[in-house]
Amino acid sequence: MFKKVFLTVFTIMVTVLALGSINTQASSSKLNNYIASHNIKHNKVSSKVWGGFPHYKYRHGKNKPEGVVVHETGNPNSTIFNEIAYMKKNYRNAFVHTFVDDDHIINIASTKYLCWGVGYPGNARFVQFEQVEMHSKKSFASEVENAAYYTAYILKKYHLKPNDACYDGKGTVWSHKAVAHYLGGSDHTDPAGYYKNRGKKYFHQSYTMKQFYKLVLTNYGNL
Ligand SMILES: [Zn+2]
Repeated sequence: MFKKVFLTVFTIMVTVLALGSINTQASSSKLNNYIASHNIKHNKVSSKVWGGFPHYKYRHGKNKPEGVVVHETGNPNSTIFNEIAYMKKNYRNAFVHTFVDDDHIINIASTKYLCWGVGYPGNARFVQFEQVEMHSKKSFASEVENAAYYTAYILKKYHLKPNDACYDGKGTVWSHKAVAHYLGGSDHTDPAGYYKNRGKKYFHQSYTMKQFYKLVLTNYGNL
């Protein structure tokens, strides 16, 4: 009898603790809180559009993207300027509209036209940007704020309503991983691994697209 009561109490305690930690994960992002409490500000979008990229219309026409795709380069040793130079040389394989780091948001290809970052059919639907890999707590936080701001900025610019597409494949805010999973076109999983790794490293908590989406909403509300 004692054993049974003890087991029941123990089970309830474990359940309460588990639910508590799930709730904390979902509701509070340490990175988002850090950005707010340290008053980290986004940079302005700088236009360095290069004329060499091809001009193809989105599926609904010129200037009619349907959302934003968030990428990260997967390159631990590059700068935003290296990445942009490389992309101009190799655009025939792939290119994105914009690059983001902790101190820049650089638009290199006109968002009036599609880019080649996620394959078919996503390329004909979305504005896409890359995040360069960061190597400190402060620079990662600043980069993510720039990424969330740029996402909100594009949504506003094209009169798109914020809607997290990463859990159901429907909406306006996508990761490359979500595009690959729900629409196909590639097998990439960025920026999930990068967010998870840097979140754990600098904030002792995985950073998720769900948390990123909340930061997009905060930025959207401030526009
Ligand atoms: Zn990608």
